[in-house]
Amino acid sequence: MTALPVIGVDVGGTKMAAGIVGADGLLVDYVLHPTPTESQLKFLAGLEAAVEGLAARGPVAAIGFGVPSRVDQVAHRVVGSVHVPLAGVDLAGHMSERFGVPASVDNDGNSAAVAEWKLGAGRGTNHMVMLTLGTGIGAGLILGGRPYRGALGGGAELGHMVIDVDGPPCGGSCTGHGHFETLASGSAASARARELGFPDAHALVAAARNGDARAVEALAGIGRVLGAGLVTIVNVFEPEVIVIGGGFSDAGELVLGPAREVVAAEALQPGRDFVRIVRAELGPEAGMIGAALIALEALGDAA
Ligand SMILES: [Zn+2]
Repeated sequence: MTALPVIGVDVGGTKMAAGIVGADGLLVDYVLHPTPTESQLKFLAGLEAAVEGLAARGPVAAIGFGVPSRVDQVAHRVVGSVHVPLAGVDLAGHMSERFGVPASVDNDGNSAAVAEWKLGAGRGTNHMVMLTLGTGIGAGLILGGRPYRGALGGGAELGHMVIDVDGPPCGGSCTGHGHFETLASGSAASARARELGFPDAHALVAAARNGDARAVEALAGIGRVLGAGLVTIVNVFEPEVIVIGGGFSDAGELVLGPAREVVAAEALQPGRDFVRIVRAELGPEAGMIGAALIALEALGDAA
């Protein structure tokens, strides 16, 4: 066990958060940078700059990155990303060479899930699903007491489950249609908000809290679609808990209430009676903390 802290980086579609995380998983300090999306070169330069400032403060044991990407953990490559220009790169190798310490790379949804599982709303469970409602829907699976990433590491992409086969095209580089994140993410809520004359999802949630019936119904509609996705998740994984995080989870019961009703009516027993659907506890820090915990675990595996 190392006493040195670890740098954990959470890369989102609009901003990257880089933090110093103690060996106990507590976030000491962090910085926010915008995510450059013009090109991969600019993206990587931005990511290095985010780490550089923290690395200059003192020695760290490792750096962990949570990226909104499919990561092939066997070939050590980021295969591709839907919302950022990052594809075909050995990011861990590149950053390890650049900063002179071991680096690990994992999907951002997996990172947040590991943090909530070890320190947040999923503590003490062995079967947990986490969804992060933001630009898209990030996801992470803890199955049988360990993170599950698929054969190569690019699985657990629950945000790209097909909800409506004839639905609208998915965003970014995804070529699918009617995917979960197109219909139930924060972006989906913002699109619905604009149809109703609100600037974005935050304004829609605020209006709903003030009793605007159209806003309440719009959020309930998104909640029902979220619930449809949760039905599939309950039927396939039978988790003990589904943890809902990300900026749009601030809508709380306005969305989760209708989602729970759909699960209660449409999912199979015993999973539907058993599962708890709860909000994340660690907030936006989960991605950084999880990336750092995964880097720490990789150090342990290598020792
Ligand atoms: Zn998709």
